[in-house]
Amino acid sequence: EQTAEIKAHEKVIKLPTHVEETAKQVGTIAQELGFRAYLVGGVVRDILLKKEVWDIDFVIEGDAIKVAQRLAEKHGVDYHPFEEFRTAHIKVNGLKLEFATTRRETYPHPGAYPLVEYAGLKEDLLRRDFTINAMAVCVNPDCFGTLIDYFGGLRDLKDKLIRVLHPLSFVEDPVRILRALRFAGRLGFKLSKSTEKLLINAVSAGLIAKAPKGRLMNELRLALREERIFEILELYKKYGVLEHVLVGIRWSPQLEKKLLSLRDVIAWHRIEFPKEKIDYGWVYLLVLLEESEKGMDFLVDISAPAWVRETYEDIKKNKKELTKKLLSAQKNSEIYLLLKNKPLPFLLILMTEEDIKEKVRVYLEKLRSVKVDLEKFKGLSGRQLGKAIEEEKMKLMDAL
Ligand code: ATP
Repeated sequence: EQTAEIKAHEKVIKLPTHVEETAKQVGTIAQELGFRAYLVGGVVRDILLKKEVWDIDFVIEGDAIKVAQRLAEKHGVDYHPFEEFRTAHIKVNGLKLEFATTRRETYPHPGAYPLVEYAGLKEDLLRRDFTINAMAVCVNPDCFGTLIDYFGGLRDLKDKLIRVLHPLSFVEDPVRILRALRFAGRLGFKLSKSTEKLLINAVSAGLIAKAPKGRLMNELRLALREERIFEILELYKKYGVLEHVLVGIRWSPQLEKKLLSLRDVIAWHRIEFPKEKIDYGWVYLLVLLEESEKGMDFLVDISAPAWVRETYEDIKKNKKELTKKLLSAQKNSEIYLLLKNKPLPFLLILMTEEDIKEKVRVYLEKLRSVKVDLEKFKGLSGRQLGKAIEEEKMKLMDAL
């Protein structure tokens, strides 16, 4: 019966070469154990989108831990089982594999952590968030590469649509509201008409606040890590979701202008200083929180790294004054003295202010890297040397 069901959705896809070998081994092991194994979720979506995949999720109709164990033995590597959830992780061939046993999830009340029971593949797919994330690919030898798509995920990928699997999806798990917008922003997709309506209703019913805070914070962290965070924030704005997560935040034309400006600044920084790695998402968050009264509480809730919290305090304390001084600074050396101890995220945020942008840009592109000829200072040491170098630098930059 199972095979017949799969046949109804038959379409064989080609897996990327670096996944194929491992997937075949998994399928063979499952077959030997009398189980069925599938690639599932985001990895299937990304393979169909021809994106690179390294985190590979398998579900097993059977015992996931046993499959992981055999594969680990075959490769002579460790496996990491989580008995409680019947899942296991292993690393092989540069891939991060996760094995889970197919399961059903039911939500006792909106936003609650779900109750879990074992079930077949179809129910495992049915518990998922969006059609594009609810496809599987069979890897057992008798059906290797067969795409299993009960909900029209492939069609939605082609039409660039995010669609929930059933009308209560956002009610069951309001975190999906944010996930929908994250995937839409990341992929440049739209919400399907019906999903959009459901999302709007869920937001206006105040469901986001019903989700556990930890899960919301976790989701926001994921969003902040996205390359297309700007597009995601635009969607958050469009659907009015951010105000439910960052309590106290208000969209204003000024804030929107600043975010747009930050987007340009970041695009510029990425190109000009590709080696200066920085998590731009946090910089966006700092701009969002700049006018908020409760910014610091929020940064603590989201477990922001120390540099983010420090920058936030620095901005709150010093930005106004510093902006004023920069406005009146004439000489390059004055600009240098004002900016030389400021961390990069602070500087990028200063660049979102039109009237001082140019000065900060000059500092980052030129002033901070002015070099002096050390030969000149032979015989000096310690503090004297430091002072002499600084003075020489400033002379040089004023002559630029
Ligand atoms: P990413 O590329 O961001 O890792 P992903 O699709 O792999 O995307 P995960 O958060 O790792 O996302 O989740 C793996 C899969 O689990 C998803 O593809 C989806 O099928 C399912 N899933 C995750 N979160 C939820 C949720 N809140 N509700 C329903 N299904 C979910």
